[in-house]
Amino acid sequence: MTRELHSEPDARRAFTYVALPARVIFGEGVIKRLPEEVERLGCRRALLLSTPTQRKLAEQGMALLGANSSGIFDGARMHVPVDVVEAATRFANEVGADGLVAIGGGSTIGLAKALALRLGIPIVAAPTTYSGSEMTPIYGITEGAIKRTGRDPVVAPRVVLYDPALSLGLPIGLSVVSAFNAIAHACEGLYARDRNPVTSLMAEEGIRAIVAGLRALADTPEEGRSDCLYGAWLCGTVLGAVGMALHHKLCHTLGGTFGLPHAEAHAIILPHVLAYNARYAPFAMAAISRALGGGDAPVALYTAARDLGAPLALRDIGMPQAQLEEVVRLTMTDSYWNPRPLEAGALLALLNNAWAGHAPH
Ligand code: NAD
Repeated sequence: MTRELHSEPDARRAFTYVALPARVIFGEGVIKRLPEEVERLGCRRALLLSTPTQRKLAEQGMALLGANSSGIFDGARMHVPVDVVEAATRFANEVGADGLVAIGGGSTIGLAKALALRLGIPIVAAPTTYSGSEMTPIYGITEGAIKRTGRDPVVAPRVVLYDPALSLGLPIGLSVVSAFNAIAHACEGLYARDRNPVTSLMAEEGIRAIVAGLRALADTPEEGRSDCLYGAWLCGTVLGAVGMALHHKLCHTLGGTFGLPHAEAHAIILPHVLAYNARYAPFAMAAISRALGGGDAPVALYTAARDLGAPLALRDIGMPQAQLEEVVRLTMTDSYWNPRPLEAGALLALLNNAWAGHAPH
């Protein structure tokens, strides 16, 4: 591989790099270190959080913590609805919680973040999906149809326990779409205006690891899960460090206004956004191509998604074609910075392509 392929001249010229202070512990069985990590943070009454279907994991966490736990709140839900945050806040206050242990995916970790924002108490996260929220200071709370998002260092988990055994039961379909959510963070991080050489290295390695992990899930699940989590860590770190662009804005519009499933929308849209941005972000495309084993980056990603069984068409996840122009209008309102200027006609063509499930071009 040539040196030129790896160089990112404009990111090297001038950049700011800020590392977030997370303690990351990785490996099979590391969930057993929960008690010492909670104690290190000085917590004596940690509250465990989960979704209803993952309550068993929270119970295991509670058993590990023994006297240093104060209870379980198992009502975490997708998109962090404000009524769930209020119920969990009341429960946390009742039991005198002085720390939070989130065992689950982005929805459970999202609830922990909303509580940390209100109560100012630390989070230990043990992720069971690959979407990467555990590595970011970004929170979101939904009230009615509006999801309010923000950044605050207080919501960034202080300790992350990456234990591959926790995601062994994640169905393959959910594994693939949550991994594509992570891949989207890395791809947009590679062309972010505020990217730097370290986040670019992490992004490329993150994509490589997570795709390798997904490809191994069926035959060697332990190794596959481990690679996926390692990739999720890297991709989530990129999301926490640099700004996102057109892809994330489109997915927020599709999820927020049209109620499409978040992770599935990511998997469908990403190759098409890469094709839209390709000529404006050649360094990013070269990195994504290397991470995927070569070829045109948008097409290689589309092919990987198809081969892994990810959904490919917006029409298959409930998007009415007649509303695509409205998606373009909303995307161009309060738009995020993007390497290629937003052009309504080209965006509509992108969405029509993604709606039909065609290969990106
Ligand atoms: P999720 O947390 O919504 O989980 C999806 C479903 O899978 C839930 O029913 C959950 O109970 C179940 N589940 C989770 N892990 C499982 C396992 N190991 N085995 C079996 N079932 C399991 O999924 P997600 O994709 O991780 O999270 C999506 C949410 O995270 C979205 O709301 C998204 O906006 C948010 N997110 C936030 C950030 C951030 O930085 N703030 C980053 C990425 C995603």
